[in-house]
Amino acid sequence: MRVLGRRADDVADVVRSETGKPAAEALTEVVVSVDLLRFYAKKGPGHLRPRRVGSGWMPWKKAWVERVPHGVVGAITPWNYPFIIPMDTVVAALFAGNAVVLKPSELTPLSALLIGELCTEAGLPSDLVRVVTGDGSTGEALIRSGVDRIVFTGSTATGRRVMAAAAETLTPVTLELGGKDPAIVLDDADLDRAVPGVVFGALFNAGQTCLSVERVLVARSRYDEFVRRATELLASLRVGTGVDVDVGPLVSRAQVDVVERHVTQAVAGGARALVGGGRQAPGSSVFLPTLLVHVKPSMDVVSAESFGPLLPVLPFDDDDEAVGLANESRYGLFASVWTRDSTRGIRVARRLHASGVSINDVLSHYAVAGLPMGGVGESGFGRRRGLEGLDEMARTRSMLVDRGGRRREPWWFPYGAGQIRLIRAVLEWRVRRGPAGLLAFARSMARRRERHGA
Ligand code: NDP
Repeated sequence: MRVLGRRADDVADVVRSETGKPAAEALTEVVVSVDLLRFYAKKGPGHLRPRRVGSGWMPWKKAWVERVPHGVVGAITPWNYPFIIPMDTVVAALFAGNAVVLKPSELTPLSALLIGELCTEAGLPSDLVRVVTGDGSTGEALIRSGVDRIVFTGSTATGRRVMAAAAETLTPVTLELGGKDPAIVLDDADLDRAVPGVVFGALFNAGQTCLSVERVLVARSRYDEFVRRATELLASLRVGTGVDVDVGPLVSRAQVDVVERHVTQAVAGGARALVGGGRQAPGSSVFLPTLLVHVKPSMDVVSAESFGPLLPVLPFDDDDEAVGLANESRYGLFASVWTRDSTRGIRVARRLHASGVSINDVLSHYAVAGLPMGGVGESGFGRRRGLEGLDEMARTRSMLVDRGGRRREPWWFPYGAGQIRLIRAVLEWRVRRGPAGLLAFARSMARRRERHGA
C-alpha cells in the first residue's frame, strides 16, 4: 500500500500514456487498488483461516475445511483498466498464497510491467509475479503452460476460446466477460441525479468499462425531459485528448470502428443522433459522446457491446416492460435503477438478469472492495474482488480426524442385521431430530459396541 501511495503518479502517467484516459480516471485506478489491498489485509486472513464444520451424527469426529492455494495463477487481462484489472487478480492470488503469471493486453503492457516492478519494490520475491507480454498467442501459450488456474477478463468471443483451450488440460477458469448494462429510469426518478448519473455511467473511460451504462430505458412519461437534459449535458462535456477533458479517446482505431459501425447501422435503421454521432475529426480516435433516439432492440447499439461513449435511449410504459427490455440480452453483468422509492428500486433490481445492480448509483460497485465482480449468461462466471474473489484463488481441502478411540466403526464389514438397525436409527434421529430418535440411535450404537467390543 505504501509503495502504491508513493508511486501513484507514476502509475497514473503510465496508464495515461497507454490509454489516453483523463488524469482523474487514471489516478482512480490506483485508489481502487489501494482500497482492495486494505480490504484483503483486514478481512483476508480471517476468511482464509481453516473453518470447523459440525460432524453431524458422528460427534466423535472432528471436521474442518482448509484453503489451499492453487499454485500458479495465470491472469489474462484487457486494456480498458490496465492497472486495476490485473491488480485485482494479482492481489487476490498473492493473498491466497499463489504465484502469478500475468499476460496483459498487447495494447497496455507497460502498466502490467509496472505492477511487476512495484511488487519487487514492495519486497516480494522477484519470481512471485511474472509478467509476460505479447498478443493473443501468448495468452493461449499461458493457458497451455501448465498453470493451475486461469483468470481471464476480456470479451465474450475470446472467453469462449480461453475456455476451450483450458478444457484440454481441465484447468479451472474464471471468465469475466462483456456486458450490455441497462440503466432503468423509473417514472418517479429524480432527474437531477439520474441524468448526470446515467451520463457519467455511460461515458466514464469513454464508455470502455465492463459495467458502463450501454442502454438507457426511460419511463415514457419522463422520456422527453430525460432526453432533453441528457443531450444538453453531453453537448457541454469537454472531449479530446488533453489531461483535463471529461471524455477521452478510445484505446484503438479498431475500437472506434466498432462504435462507428454500431452508430452507422442504427442511423441507417431509423435512429437519430441528437448529439455527437461520429469521430471528433476524420481518422481521430476520439468518438463524440452520442445520444441516440428511435433505436430498436434489434439494433447492435442496443443488443451488442459497443464499448464506446454512446447512450441509446428507449422508452417503456411500466415496470414490467422495463424489466422485460432489460432482460432481453444474452449478457448479464450489471444494471442500475433510478427511482425516488428505493424499495421499488430494489424490487425491480431483484427481477433483473444481472449479477450486480445499483439503485440511484452507477459504477460505484467497483469502488467497494467487498463487492464481488462477475457476470451471468454470456458475461461469464466466477468472481473477482470481494471475499468471493479470494475464494477463487484457493481450493478447499476437507479434513477429518476420528477421535472416537474405537478399533472399528459399527458400519464397517461384516454387514448384518445390526447395521440395518443402526442405519434406520440414524435415519430416525436425523429425520425426527428429537430425543426419541437420539435414544434409538444411542441404543443401537451401544448394542453394536457390546457385540464387537470398543
Ligand atoms: P479481448 O478479449 O480482445 O482480450 C483480452 C485479453 O485476452 C488480452 O490480453 C488479449 O491479448 C488476450 N487474448 C486474445 N486472444 C486470446 C486467446 N486466444 N487466448 C488467450 N488470450 C487471448 O478483450 P479486450 O482487451 O478487447 O477488452 C475488452 C473486453 O473486456 C470487453 O468485452 C469488456 O466488456 C471486457 N471486460 C470485462 C470485464 C469484467 O469484469 N467482466 C472488465 C473489463 C473488461 P491481446 O490484447 O494482446 O490480443
